[in-house]
Amino acid sequence: MLIQDLIRKKRDKERLTSAEIRWFVKELCKNEVEPAQIGAFLMASWINGLSELEKVNLTTAMKNSGTVLKWELKGPIVDKHSTGGVGDTVSLILAPLMASLGCFVPMISGKGLGHTGGTLDKLSSIPGYKVEQSETSFQKIVSQVGCAIVGQTSKLVPADKILYATRDVTSTVDSIDLITASIISKKLASGITNLILDVKVGRGALMTNVTRAKKLAKSLVSVSNASNCKTRALITNMDDPLSSAIGNALEVETVVDVLLGKNKNEKALLDTTIALSVELYSMVYPEKSKMEIKKKVCSLLDSGHVAERFENMVSALGGPKDFLSTYKKVLPKTKYEIPVRAKKDGYITQIDTKALGNILIKIGGGRQKASDNLNLSVGFTKVVKSNERVDANEALLMLHYPDKSLPSSLEEEINNCFSISERDLAQPINPILEKIV
Ligand code: URA
Repeated sequence: MLIQDLIRKKRDKERLTSAEIRWFVKELCKNEVEPAQIGAFLMASWINGLSELEKVNLTTAMKNSGTVLKWELKGPIVDKHSTGGVGDTVSLILAPLMASLGCFVPMISGKGLGHTGGTLDKLSSIPGYKVEQSETSFQKIVSQVGCAIVGQTSKLVPADKILYATRDVTSTVDSIDLITASIISKKLASGITNLILDVKVGRGALMTNVTRAKKLAKSLVSVSNASNCKTRALITNMDDPLSSAIGNALEVETVVDVLLGKNKNEKALLDTTIALSVELYSMVYPEKSKMEIKKKVCSLLDSGHVAERFENMVSALGGPKDFLSTYKKVLPKTKYEIPVRAKKDGYITQIDTKALGNILIKIGGGRQKASDNLNLSVGFTKVVKSNERVDANEALLMLHYPDKSLPSSLEEEINNCFSISERDLAQPINPILEKIV
């Protein structure tokens, strides 16, 4: 077999066999494929697409390119993946919640890149929390605590690292087929049996268009199910930031406030987390009614069980043992909190959520390139929501900033993220848009 023959087949819209795809991925990981050949293969795949079977075969070959975790646990092994949003802290609540329901959650997350935040960066703001764990300690923590959120090791799906690096520089990232193989191979390598996908759509999401979000969700769900991992997806709204806090340590603080019942204003975050958790649990136990599951989920949240489980996870991963009582003190903080005020009265009719995410990058709280260091304490809190009424001079948000005064251009940029009109939106924003099974 020659690599150029596989490239020609893809170029000519022929189908690759399972053996050909396996061989390609093997050669790739042995560094036997020239960069030009990787680029040509990816571009041919981007242009002509992959069949359902090719996607499943590529996903399986990529999964098997490195370690595949094996678990001997007495309970379902479940996970959730989000396509990325702003103020999205669902994982921080969902993982300990599913563990409180008796599931095991080995969650391997990523750092943020671009305007969407990364779960690992949020958790890195907790002093002592080690996102890099050996396979042995990851397995031990998951079996003892029920959940652990950690970073990816170099042994997991090495083929994705090679392919992704080339996709990044050949304009082939935005292929639904390649995204599917990339995401699902990594999830399958963590040895899970059930997966819920949170495919976000809207102004703050990578997918701004519902048609494309649905196409991605359907592709992810069908490839994952065909690979023996029971999977469903919810299409959820990312027009507004998902919580009123944006910024790494600030989002963690808000999550703990919510878990301790001290913050009752995070309805979109809670509704989304509950919907995803109910869907995931009902996949594992289809005989239970969704109403019954929802009741159980809400009672676990209200009772503080989920908060305790979160604290146990933080402590097992190297963070403070008493995080629930010390989080306000130990999370990093900026010296100043500055209100950014509305220039006129009216209703918030639109938030440019992506622009807010980009302002966070600008003030140091997000990454433009993978090697960028982060300021984990900067960000926004008390961000107003769509349909909320504001008076002129009322705060649109509180900016957590290292300096006493903010440049007027920054104040202007933040103000420009909020559209204010005399009339409110005719309808409330619904956080859950559709289910894909
Ligand atoms: N996230 C991934 O892991 N892979 C992609 O291709 C896109 C988003």
